[in-house]
Amino acid sequence: MSQPQSRSEGALTPDLVAGFAAIVGAQHALTDPDQQLPYLREWRDLYNGRACVVLRPGSTEEVSRVLTLANEHGLPVVPQAGNTGLVGGQVAMHGEVLLSVGRLKRVRSLDPQGFTMTVEAGLTLAEAQAAADDADRLFPLSLPSEGSCQIGGNLATNAGGVGVLAYGNARQLVLGLEVVLADGRVWNGLNRLKKDNTGYDLKDLFIGSEGTLGVITAAVLKLFPKPAEKATSFVALADLDAALALFSLGQEIAGPHFTAFEVMARIVLETVVSHVEGARNPLPGSHPWYALLETCGLKADGTAERLLTDTLTAASERGIITDAVIASSLTQARDLWRLRESYSEAQKPLGGSVKNDVSVPVAAIPEFIRRADAAMERICPGARPIPISHFGDGNVHYNVSQPEGMAKDRFMALWDDMVHAVNEIVLDLNGSISAEHGIGVMKRAELARAKGPLAMDLMRKIKAVFDPRGILNPGKVL
Ligand code: FAD
Ligand code: ZN
Repeated sequence: MSQPQSRSEGALTPDLVAGFAAIVGAQHALTDPDQQLPYLREWRDLYNGRACVVLRPGSTEEVSRVLTLANEHGLPVVPQAGNTGLVGGQVAMHGEVLLSVGRLKRVRSLDPQGFTMTVEAGLTLAEAQAAADDADRLFPLSLPSEGSCQIGGNLATNAGGVGVLAYGNARQLVLGLEVVLADGRVWNGLNRLKKDNTGYDLKDLFIGSEGTLGVITAAVLKLFPKPAEKATSFVALADLDAALALFSLGQEIAGPHFTAFEVMARIVLETVVSHVEGARNPLPGSHPWYALLETCGLKADGTAERLLTDTLTAASERGIITDAVIASSLTQARDLWRLRESYSEAQKPLGGSVKNDVSVPVAAIPEFIRRADAAMERICPGARPIPISHFGDGNVHYNVSQPEGMAKDRFMALWDDMVHAVNEIVLDLNGSISAEHGIGVMKRAELARAKGPLAMDLMRKIKAVFDPRGILNPGKVL
């Protein structure tokens, strides 16, 4: 894995610490290593964090004053929300200022009839979902990390997750943003309009910019009618072509009611069943591939289950599925979802793991996985690909675990070779080397190759306009 370089210019003096403490309050300017620890420890233990100070501003105005001061002194600042990012973007690695938005937690307004809510960046995704739910509305962004990740991080990474098939990724769920720029100026773009063709779309630049262009402090999010019913099924498949055929059938039969289609290899299910307490295989026997399907209905009139049953019946008649179970209760549906969502924690006992979060056109997923499997076997015989896919939107988490018995260090030394080989196939299939986790530090080296010189030049120029002194998250993305 490539390591970032630090471009920090200024140094933190006792006077500056006092200046920051005067802005956010002494108890929210953390220099004690024990107090800093939760902000520095990274979820996958891939990066070591080191910050000169952790600042926890309590308002947009405080964020603005912090950045004004940091910019004046050329101090690098790493924005952080829930610290669940998977590419190291939120990690301070060179003693930067770590700016946590976690105290910005207000739901500023909720408009059930206009189907919008304005929330601050430190609200966890689960809290945002609950706020919508309390108003009988749905905020459909949904990730396994939703209890910890926060809206600011979700938007800064343009998060994806399991609802993208029906509702789009984070970018599609935002109408407006409030952003503090590197020099402390506050851009109020809290637009609530669906139609606004007044020049360049600035908000779309900040979404997915991973803390390199500005600090998102609040957002206007889109809400949706809350489904009154859901139906969930777990099916067994002989191969990936069957998965593609089933997905296509589900689209034809259930159309907009088809809200999730997740696919996983046998090894994913086996790993989850062995390592997650209470998880069990819902189908008899063992099958090469499994899919989780979900349909929704706005009224509680059985539409969701009928559409799901129709899809499975048609698939069975055409020999597409080998076996299937439909959840008969909410608890059963939750258990099926848990098989999909707990794979990240379940995978740890398998040892070293090389991560690829990529996407290809949906119809190319079978070819991508076949070619990637062959490439991994060439590079590291016995390596265990663990593909798990938000299939319906083309996203494959193509993780590769070390061969049994191999030393972890030896395997992890193959990281760059394996990632490079996977990305070659992805680009050959007109895919993307980062589907939903972003670039951060992990994928910086590969970005230039994937985007080409013109796109890189434009991105660098945009960065220079928004952050001329280069204080925001230096060494990340670009
Ligand atoms: P952080 O990790 O704190 O930050 C992420 C990036 O955003 C960093 O570059 C940071 O500098 C920047 N940033 C944070 N806050 C701000 C802000 N206010 N303004 C500007 N920049 C900011 N991701 C998916 O997309 N789909 C998944 O299905 C998914 N599943 C996951 C499952 C698990 C178990 C885990 C641990 C992670 C998963 N992730 C997934 C990754 C992660 O949860 C998402 O990227 C999430 O959106 C990050 O949010 P966060 O609040 O934790 O951000
Ligand atoms: Zn994912």
